[in-house]
Amino acid sequence: MQEYVSEAIILNKEPMRSQDGRYSLFTARFGKVIGRAISSRKITSKLAPHLEPGMLTKVRFIEKNGTNIVDALKISRLSHGPTDLRFLSALLPEGQREDELWELLAQEPFSWQKTLRILGWDPEGAQCVHCGKMPVSHFYIPRQEFFCKTCASKLRKDALILLVTTPHEPLQPEFSMGEQREKI
Ligand SMILES: [Zn+2]
Repeated sequence: MQEYVSEAIILNKEPMRSQDGRYSLFTARFGKVIGRAISSRKITSKLAPHLEPGMLTKVRFIEKNGTNIVDALKISRLSHGPTDLRFLSALLPEGQREDELWELLAQEPFSWQKTLRILGWDPEGAQCVHCGKMPVSHFYIPRQEFFCKTCASKLRKDALILLVTTPHEPLQPEFSMGEQREKI
């Protein structure tokens, strides 16, 4: 019975028929790992708060009839969104260590451009696979291909990664400190 310890980013969780939980983890040492939090309800509920998507957690797991998470301790919560993490879980192969991606995900905010480039799909210079237009704006997970905005509108939204996030304007203060002082 092999036992492993690694830091992991929780990508996704799925409830199982029993009280067990099925988790997708991106670990520093082993890449993506799919593991179950087994045993009694008590243990599962004890671990659950440390296994929420977006958490950076220290995880201990054993290989015995599959991968079982036996202990988890939250380190911090990252700001990556649950949808991005679920998409990432769908894209990553199991058991393939990705040091560069691990370092990228430790930073914030999350970037699909950088993530896809590390995984071997560089959006820069890519053409829409359907009409040939550039630049591309979406990556479609089932086909692992890039699409322009128009062509992407015909695809399934729940498997479609939006590459470009609109940069939001920094919030302007209502008035400057000088003006504030004048009013007083
Ligand atoms: Zn197109």
